[in-house]
Amino acid sequence: MNKEVLSRWSTAKSDEIYGVSNWGKGYYSVDDNGLINVVPYNKKDVKVPLIDIVKKASDRGLEMPLLVRFENLLDARIARLNDNFKKAMKNLGYKGSYEGVYPVKVNQQQEVVKEIASFGKKYHHGFEVGSKPELIAVMAEMLDKKANIICNGYKDKEFIDLGLYYKKLGYNLFFVVEMPGEASLILERGEKLGIEPNIGIRIKLSEKAGGHWMASGGDRSIFGLNMSQVIETVDLLKSKKKLSTLKLLHYHLGSQIPNIRDIRFAVVEATRVYAELVKEGAPMGYLDLGGGLAVDYDGSNTNFASSRNYNTFEYCADVVEAVMSVLDKEEVQHPVIVTESGRSLVAFYSILLFNVLDVAYFSAKDVPKKIEEDVNEEIKNLFYVSKDLNVKNLTESYNDALFYRDSIKNMFNQGRISLRERSMAEKIFWNLLNKINTEIKKLKFVPRDLEELELAIADIYYCNFSLFQSLPDSWAIDQLFPIVPIHRLDEMPTRNAILADITCDCDGEISKFIDVHDIKKTLQLHEVKDDEDYIIGVFLVGAYQETLGDLHNLFGDTNVITVKIDKEGEFEIIYEMEGDSVEDVLSYVEYDTKKMRRQFRKKTEDAIRTGIINAEERKNIMDSFEMGLRGYTYYEQE
Ligand code: PLP
Repeated sequence: MNKEVLSRWSTAKSDEIYGVSNWGKGYYSVDDNGLINVVPYNKKDVKVPLIDIVKKASDRGLEMPLLVRFENLLDARIARLNDNFKKAMKNLGYKGSYEGVYPVKVNQQQEVVKEIASFGKKYHHGFEVGSKPELIAVMAEMLDKKANIICNGYKDKEFIDLGLYYKKLGYNLFFVVEMPGEASLILERGEKLGIEPNIGIRIKLSEKAGGHWMASGGDRSIFGLNMSQVIETVDLLKSKKKLSTLKLLHYHLGSQIPNIRDIRFAVVEATRVYAELVKEGAPMGYLDLGGGLAVDYDGSNTNFASSRNYNTFEYCADVVEAVMSVLDKEEVQHPVIVTESGRSLVAFYSILLFNVLDVAYFSAKDVPKKIEEDVNEEIKNLFYVSKDLNVKNLTESYNDALFYRDSIKNMFNQGRISLRERSMAEKIFWNLLNKINTEIKKLKFVPRDLEELELAIADIYYCNFSLFQSLPDSWAIDQLFPIVPIHRLDEMPTRNAILADITCDCDGEISKFIDVHDIKKTLQLHEVKDDEDYIIGVFLVGAYQETLGDLHNLFGDTNVITVKIDKEGEFEIIYEMEGDSVEDVLSYVEYDTKKMRRQFRKKTEDAIRTGIINAEERKNIMDSFEMGLRGYTYYEQE
């Protein structure tokens, strides 16, 4: 790369290519030293470079890969959602209030639930639970009797009894009827224990939203009651003289709804049902709009699946306005609006950091500048294709290159050229492809044949993480996350790369990256230096990624730290958790590690007996086995 071009690089250009200002929403930024900073209070001068946090973790022996969580960002997101609802309600003259609940399934970590219970108290921010373990976690952590607990999901007798007892203790708990028939069991248990339940009904809307996660909504959605089942439930409650328990209406259109129009249509449909239930004589009072508030992962601010075409305030204002537009016409009192926003609260909370272990470069070094007369004709032809390349013959040269490459490979298989000659041809070929790729950038439209070239010549950066363990949605549903080196952003990234994890599974790669206009096939990265770790961050991974991950290749949980930053920008590691050891992951898949030690010791004893090793060697082998068992499952530096 030309020195002048390199020296003209700026951190602003890095910000632009990685979109940090777009998706970072003021919580992450690039500083003048080329470092990514976390900005917890939305004040530009209170910030911490991530690399400082990495160093501090390393001093404590916590190496890469490392999951860093920021308590401040969780608090900031709770505040942003609640403050925006408050502002929208004030602006529009809404007479009810907003009481959000955090759906525990989105990140069940105790730290998250504890912090939401504590910071959320001043907003009466409660919880949504979908199972007995989630309910029990909340029962222990909840601090605020005014906040709501919404119980969704299948509920057996034990689940219902737990909830009823919690209500008896004075907590504001609702059972949401998800399936026909569930209401009778709730009433039966309530009667038996002498505790009046609060009942909600989950409805299926006919409205269906676009995006990856749309299956939760629409007539065919798995959960919720259709309109005739709603009426059957109302009639059941009336017949048991328990209509007074019906206080809440709920729906969930799906997660990550990119289009505000879909959100608005759903709110209108549900609010109509709400108004009808009031007319049926139910006390109601709570309208629960479920999750769906999306995260702008690619920073494009559009209705693309990885983004959303609205901001938090627009979401709040649209929801409030849509509710009012229905209820004011029908002269029904404004209810407490509840949302079950999860992703939007916790996505910013965590970053996955990992180092690059190795790189496979697909540009050739030592490419011959001239070709000797006695070289094989096909290799000579390939050389001249490369020499004669210009912007007008790109497609033709590309096809010629493929032809000669195949022909050279066949000749090699037939023993007509040597390995050295094949290596020379390979260098010419990759160099030619790189030259074509540079020339393409001068064209307005990329010829069809050349569309995949960028990917074909992308370097492979081998990274110290498992996609299956740490970014399951990237593997399973092609979700995009912002991925950025956390340092060296004052240098021009000169390589185009894809990322490979260390699972040695061909699915363990990332070859789709965020872009404001489309999806990028490669990520611009810096050349890795021999004497310095190159650290890459995957951002906005706080939602759904931590517990959906699996033990593919037996890579376990990563090291984790939680950081708290004070108003002066000083940070403290308030929690640390060593990642799984090899022994841990083996026990998860039912190995008895004590027995394994015994079995292995016997093997070394046999080896001594048969003279393969001596006593000292045996000790070294046993020590190394023991260290292996206790070690981190990921690549350890030393
Ligand atoms: N509520 C229910 C019932 C859900 O199933 C989900 C998850 O899909 C959510 C809330 C959270 O949705 P989101 O993370 O999009 O806010």
